[in-house]
Amino acid sequence: ERGTAPPMTRHRVTAKGKNVPERIDTFKELQDRYHIASQLMVNLERNGYRYPTGIQSSGCPILLESRDLAAISPTGTGKTLSYLLPIMTLLKTPISSSKADAGAGIRAIVLAPTRELAHQIYNECLKLAQGRKWRIVLFSKATAATLVDKGVQDKVDIVISTPLRLVSSIQSGHLSLHNVQHLILDEADRMLDQEFIAQVQEILAACTHERLQTAVFSATLPAGAERIALDMLRDPIRVVVGLKDT
Ligand code: ADP
Ligand code: MG
Repeated sequence: ERGTAPPMTRHRVTAKGKNVPERIDTFKELQDRYHIASQLMVNLERNGYRYPTGIQSSGCPILLESRDLAAISPTGTGKTLSYLLPIMTLLKTPISSSKADAGAGIRAIVLAPTRELAHQIYNECLKLAQGRKWRIVLFSKATAATLVDKGVQDKVDIVISTPLRLVSSIQSGHLSLHNVQHLILDEADRMLDQEFIAQVQEILAACTHERLQTAVFSATLPAGAERIALDMLRDPIRVVVGLKDT
């Protein structure tokens, strides 16, 4: 949208919770404050992301300060980047080039209700991963089979999956989530409905890392789903983005 106002100006953003981190107006500001890797900044630019959207300007600082988050923002407002950029910053380096974390296991999980949505998230993730050796896995029957090998599993940075696929691997004893430090539920209204809630709870229970950060993202979050979400989150911040003229 060359020549138009920054997308964020079209949104009204409210954030509630304890000690809400200050929002940012530019990606540069985000880099100054949180030391986003320069490769990530290059990838933002390369993919035409010039200004953060409303959910990105409010959500990124919250996640970068390791807080839990319930985010409600309309479809098409860039929710994916608002969690991928913080995750890829907090993970610091791809596991393949960091000796300290090597051998510990999968570090981040993004859950989506359908394979198609998981695939879209995966593609967004690849855009940010350009130029570095991130191991990003779109979970499927085939990739699940390769992850049975612990040596392979230990070298994975981010897994993107539907709940059922992941649960079957946990149940078969082939997947350990004890090193997961970031768990994102995308399209949370669906992830917390009758179809998926038991699976999501099972995945959450398998994520036993003491510093687990959990966040839910959705275009809408009915009261029932929100109560369940808030139960899963620790001292969360709730962000709501609305279009200004609606
Ligand atoms: P949502 O999950 O909120 O529906 P997406 O994360 O799928 O939205 O993003 C919608 C589209 O906007 C995608 O094509 C994405 O690449 C693009 N996008 C995301 N953030 C920005 C930005 N800051 N500037 C320009 N385009 C963006
Ligand atoms: Mg989305």
